[in-house]
Parts: sequence; C-alpha cells; structure tokens
Amino acid sequence: MEPVRESFWNMPRWTQWALYAALAVALAFFGYGLYRRFRLWKQGQPSLRWDHFGKRLWNVVRYVLGQVKVANEAFPGLIHLSIFFGFLVLFVGTALIFINDDILGPIFHLHYVRGPFYLGLETVLDLMGLVFLFGIILALVRRYILRPSRLENRPDDAITLTLLLLIGLGGYVLEGLRLAIQRPAWGTSSFAGYALAGLFTAMGATGQGARLAHQALWWVHTAMALGFIGLIPYTRLFHLVTNPLNAFFHPLESEAALPPIPNIEEAEVLGASELAHLPRKRLLDYESCTRCGRCQDVCPAFLAGQPLSPRQVVLDLDSFMLQRGKAPLLGARGKEFPASELELPGGVIAEETLWSCTTCMACMERCPVLIDHIGTIVELRRYMSLCSGQMPGSLRGALDKTRRAGNPYGQRGGRLAWAEGLEVPLISEAGEAEVLFWVGCAGAYDPRNQKVARAVATLLRQAGVSFAILGDEEQCCGDWVRRAGEEYLFQTLAQANIETLKQYRFQGIVTACPHGYNTLKNEYRQFGGEFQVWHHSAYLAGLIEAGRLRPVKAWEKGVVAYHDPCYLGRYNGLLAEPRRALRSIPGLSLVELAHHGRRGLCCGGGGGKMWMEEEADKRVNQVRLKEIVATPAEVVSVACPYCLSMLDDAVKVKGLEEKIAVYDLAEIVAGAVSVE
Ligand code: SF4
Ligand code: SF4
Repeated sequence: MEPVRESFWNMPRWTQWALYAALAVALAFFGYGLYRRFRLWKQGQPSLRWDHFGKRLWNVVRYVLGQVKVANEAFPGLIHLSIFFGFLVLFVGTALIFINDDILGPIFHLHYVRGPFYLGLETVLDLMGLVFLFGIILALVRRYILRPSRLENRPDDAITLTLLLLIGLGGYVLEGLRLAIQRPAWGTSSFAGYALAGLFTAMGATGQGARLAHQALWWVHTAMALGFIGLIPYTRLFHLVTNPLNAFFHPLESEAALPPIPNIEEAEVLGASELAHLPRKRLLDYESCTRCGRCQDVCPAFLAGQPLSPRQVVLDLDSFMLQRGKAPLLGARGKEFPASELELPGGVIAEETLWSCTTCMACMERCPVLIDHIGTIVELRRYMSLCSGQMPGSLRGALDKTRRAGNPYGQRGGRLAWAEGLEVPLISEAGEAEVLFWVGCAGAYDPRNQKVARAVATLLRQAGVSFAILGDEEQCCGDWVRRAGEEYLFQTLAQANIETLKQYRFQGIVTACPHGYNTLKNEYRQFGGEFQVWHHSAYLAGLIEAGRLRPVKAWEKGVVAYHDPCYLGRYNGLLAEPRRALRSIPGLSLVELAHHGRRGLCCGGGGGKMWMEEEADKRVNQVRLKEIVATPAEVVSVACPYCLSMLDDAVKVKGLEEKIAVYDLAEIVAGAVSVE
C-alpha cells in the first residue's frame, strides 16, 4: 500500500467545514488588525517606493529569509535562526498539506502528498519541528532565566513564546497518538512522533480513550494555530509582517547621506513635530522593532550614561503612534503618554535625548531589521533647529558663527595661517592642480589639527603631487550643520562650496576629515556637486604603494592602536586603507581595540556634538579611552580631526599624557617618510 496522508483522520465529517469557518474568523481578525495598522502608517508622508523591484526583493531575501544581520550575534542569532527556519519550514509544510487536502484534492482529485514525497515531508517536518522547539526553549531560558539586561520582558513576550511552545508540542503529541492508534508501516519516517507513539503504546493509549483524546487535542491544537494567525497584528509577532515590508521599502541609496528637504525655501514642513510629518517608511520602522536591544548595547551615548537609547526612541514613537491610533494590542506596549497632544521633539522624545546622538551609525549597523535611527533623530532635530529653536546654547553659538563667518570657529578669513612657511599654492592662482586639498575648518583653525594639515601638505609635496588649496574661498562643508538639523544653512554652504569648486580644474579632492569626505563625496551630489574625493588615509596608502612615498624611518614610539572614525569605517567602508598605511612603517606594531572596524566605537564628536558642552562624567570620549588603556598601546592613531580633539581631550582629563599620545595618521606617516 502506498504511503499516503489521510485528511482529517479520526475527526467527524463536519470538522472540515468547521475548520474553514474558524480559519475565516482568524483571517478576519488578522485582516482587521492589519487594516488598523495600515491606517496608522497612512498618516505619514508618502514615501514607500516600488522602484527597482528586483533589488528590493533581494533585500527581503537577504535580510529576512537570509537573516544576515540577525546571525551577527552568536547566541541570540542561534535562537532566532532556529525559531525562524523551524517556523518557516513548518509553515510551508502545513501550506503544502492544506493545498493537497483542501484545494487540489477535493476540486481536481489531485493528491501529491503521497509516496516518497509524503515520507520525506514527514521527516523534514519532524526535524524542523524539533529545531523550532529548541529555539523556543532557548528563548525562554534566555529571557526568563539568564535575563540579559538589554531584554525587557512584557506580557506580550510570555504569551507569544508560550503559544508557540504549546503549538509545537501539541503537534508532536497529536502525531504520536495517531501513529500509536494507526500503526502504519511507514510510521518511522515521522521519527519524533514515532518515538512518542512508542511511549503511548507502552502506556496502553491506543483504544477509544486515545481516539477521544486525539480529537480533543486536535481542536485545541487547531484553535491555538488559528489563534496564532489572528493574534499576529496584536502582538510582537507583528514583526512577521513588518520586517519583510521594511526590508522591501528600505532605501537603496547609501545611508551615509541624509535625505535633503526638497524645495526648502517653499517647504511647508521643516523636520517633524508630529507623526504626520514623518515619512511612512519611518512609521514602518517603528513597527518593525523587535526590542532586541542590540542598538542600545552599542550606542556610545547610552554607554556613557547620556539620556539616549536608540531602542527607546523607536519604541516611544511606536507607542505614541499606537496610542494615538488606538490600535488594539494584547498586553502593554511601552510607556503611557499624557492625553494632550504632544510634539514629538521635546514631548514624546526629550530634547536632551535627541541632542545626545553622535550620528555614529553603530545602532543602524547592528539593527537586524534595518531601522534608520539617525533618519528619525535628524528629522526631529530639524524641527528643533528650524522651527522651535530648542537647542543647546553651545550648538546655537557654533551655528551662529558659521552663519556669520562660514566656519564654527567664527574667524573671518585667515584660513591660510596653518600653511605659514610651506608655500602651499592657492588654486585661484594656480588655476588647476592634480589634487585639491580640502583643509576643513579644524585643519584651518584648530592649532592641534593645523599640524595635521601641515603633515598632509608636506607628504603631498614629498610625493610630487601637484596640489593646491582653496584658502579663504573654502567654507565649512556643513556636515555637522546638517546633522544638527540646520538643513537650510547646510544647503547654503553646500551650494556655495560647489559653486566655488566648479570654477577650478582638478582631478580630485583630498581631505583629512572623514566628515568632509563623506559630505563632499555622498551629499554634495544631491545639489549637483559630483567630485572624486579621497580621504587622506587612502590617498597616502596609494602613494606609499605606488612608491611615491617611502616610509623608511623605523617607528620608535611604541605599540599603536588605530581608532576607526565612524564616518570613515562604518559610513564609507574605509577600514583596510588606514591600516595599510600604518603597517607600511618599519617597526610599527598595530593592535586592535575591542571595538574596531565596522564595529568601531565613536569618539563622541560627530553629529554636531563637537560643538556641544557635555557633563564631565558622561563623556563618550572617556568610554573610548577605557578601551584604549585596556590595550598595550602607547599611541593612538586617528584619521579625523574630531577624533584627534576628543581623544586628546580624554587623555588630558585623565592625566594620561605621559602614557598615551594621540596622533593623526598623516603625522605618523610624515615622521617615517624620508625626504629625498
Ligand atoms: S547613531 Fe550612534 S549615538 Fe546616535 S543613537 Fe545610534 S548608536 Fe547612539
Ligand atoms: S531598533 Fe533594531 S536593534 Fe534596536 S531594539 Fe529595535 S530591532 Fe533591535
């Protein structure tokens, strides 16, 4: 006899129709919940894009089916992968059986769940059911026994995990009872159910009582499975719906560039003070959060004790949206908000929280569901900067200076002082050059960073590179201005700089500032400024590798740790180049800090924080310094003016000047290069 699965075995004939009715009720609950959520998202600005359909679909395959970011952490990754793939295979298997039993069978008399396919399916489902249960049990152990501090337990979590556990176990018990009573010759293909059947047989559970138990359990199991479907939009299970959508609508452009406010002169809304001002994609972001806490774990502001948790920002906005929309939910979902209408910045999310962000992107790098935390924070900052004026006084001062003088140091002219004695040509006089050296405001005005500018200029000259500078024609690139939310001033600066740059002929721009590098390379193109831009670390590595610079002097200042600037490593993937430049120096031994590469820890200076006062005991640079002193490094190499200032400052505050020196990579290379 051919192995075949008997539909609705041991169930009365009316069961099938009762099941359809119950399924319709579950789907109605599901549909209603989904409809309520769609209505919430619809209040946002239209922003969901369908272009490049194939690439978007690939993002779903990569991030949802492939779970590439989930797997980045071993233990939580193992748990989620077990639950996800176990669930996926059980869902597909159940769907195949449903199509066989309830559609193709009754209508076309076509049964494909039979013979070897049926036996193989039974084995695979038994195996993946065990994987699923393994994941659920590990999740329960982690959440309720190990209790890592980043996980906060809500009733929702207990309900969901218990429901999934009972559905998984119930499936095996049902199978075991059926096999104990039916005793088919092919029972071993359902190996887990077969083992349980052996137990039931030994207990004598094979008669009428077992049949009744099977019937009762069938209904309980079915009710839980249908309940699971109906509950999806009302529990944390909703991420099963939102995560594929969020991956599909994820921007395809580089996240290194902030989106502009189009037509800023005429725009009615500047930034966001209410949910309706936010793009729908951002509202979808909030609904996608699984509360895993990975973003919070790596947020430098959170680690330094500042009032910012990227997870809480997302959850508070989500709670606010759900409360305003009166979306039905099972269990509490975050804090309560007062009934009065609140503005998002300063009301739902505290001002200090929003101003704590360094825009380091560590949260986005780790978030498994592609949430754009910086996009939201900057959107709210835009409202504070451009409309309500809620901002720290020190930041306001730096913006005022930049408005007046074109740089946050407030100096008019004098951008050539750093080059005294070097005879660096001005491009306005040379007319053209191989390379335009973009000095940046820190290189031009900050005494410590002026030394770096001198080192870069010296190295370019030694390598025989024809270069020139803009001098007083250069203005602040606007990176921090934009991240402080002052989009109007940023666009003014960007347009002025682009106009200036377009007057001259050069092959590319070299800059020692990762912020200038990112803005000139990735953001100026939004305003018609397409330039070839090199960061000095990569450019110097290229000159060394081409033999145009020869580091021959042996390094004698001790072990070096390289600190990855966020805007270089994480934002632009320049990780190997600075290390190659440093390793080219004879005798230089390089160590890695605990957080390095794409997971590097911020110095605390990005996102406008360079120009804000911080409480002495809550400084991000001190968190980074702790990682530095935990290594044998005596020298920290940076490749960013903010990192240089922040880490120098951290060392001085701790009185560690005798133990740790902070240099820019250009200074280290310059010290090792022979002058021919
Ligand atoms: S960008 Fe950096 S500082 Fe800002 S929330 Fe994310 S991790 Fe925290
Ligand atoms: S925002 Fe992303 S990383 Fe942070 S808790 Fe939510 S899902 Fe996890």
